[in-house]
Amino acid sequence: MREPIPGLRPAPETKRRRILLIGLDGLRWDIAAEDNVGTTLQKLAETGSFHQMTMEVPTISAPGWGSILTGSTHAQHGLKDNSCVGGRTWNRPDFLSQCFYQAQETRTFAAAGWPVLVDLHGLGPIIHPRIEQQFAGLHRVIVRDGETFGYPAVDAEITSITLAALKSGGFDVGFTYCCDVDDAGHIHGLQGNHYREAIKRVDAHVKSVTDMVAARHEAFGEEWLVILTTDHGHVDEGGHGGDSARERESWVITRSPDDYTTDWEKELRPEEITPLILQERNAS
Ligand SMILES: [Zn+2]
Repeated sequence: MREPIPGLRPAPETKRRRILLIGLDGLRWDIAAEDNVGTTLQKLAETGSFHQMTMEVPTISAPGWGSILTGSTHAQHGLKDNSCVGGRTWNRPDFLSQCFYQAQETRTFAAAGWPVLVDLHGLGPIIHPRIEQQFAGLHRVIVRDGETFGYPAVDAEITSITLAALKSGGFDVGFTYCCDVDDAGHIHGLQGNHYREAIKRVDAHVKSVTDMVAARHEAFGEEWLVILTTDHGHVDEGGHGGDSARERESWVITRSPDDYTTDWEKELRPEEITPLILQERNAS
């Protein structure tokens, strides 16, 4: 048993398994798996379940997250690049919305520092704002701008808001997102220390969030499933978008603090994640 976390608040009872999806942009697994780099991620992969995933081309963030978060192929959501021009995500509800539509007491939460995912005033957003549910206290969207203010600071802020939401029992299904690793890959490439240092920073965020989920399980017996994934790889020099194996590679980890294990296929397609989440919600 770990030390109890002071101020942990109970949440409304539910029969459905609670879900937290952690999105880590542009994180190549072979580098996270190096000694002393993604130590928390490695532990989650060992104690949970690890899956390989191959992204559709173009291997760009908005189409990639569009597929993962809405359960759509590129042809279905229409996103071709990060401008989102031609996208049809207004007709392709994200997994939080779908969880709400199937059970309308579901409280959802999304926090991201990349505006395309969450900012109503930006190019997307891929996560639907669902203003009526925000007014009803059933949906919360935290928007920050890592493009302007830098992802190391913004990811830390997104993480602390996610921790506060978890601590107060604030949601049943959530999405939290870090982009520091992808940004470091673009600026510095993957060969030096910068990319690895960014993975270590994000790995520490993952540790604090997964520890908080485990603390809720220990304190209240809540059933959770944490899912971690990325939207594309990177070439060694830094960059993605093309059809090389390095750019298309992704991975998925599922891990539950109550030692529940998913029976998902070893190889997943990005558009399968959202239906699998709905299935996990319906199974319990
Ligand atoms: Zn990306």
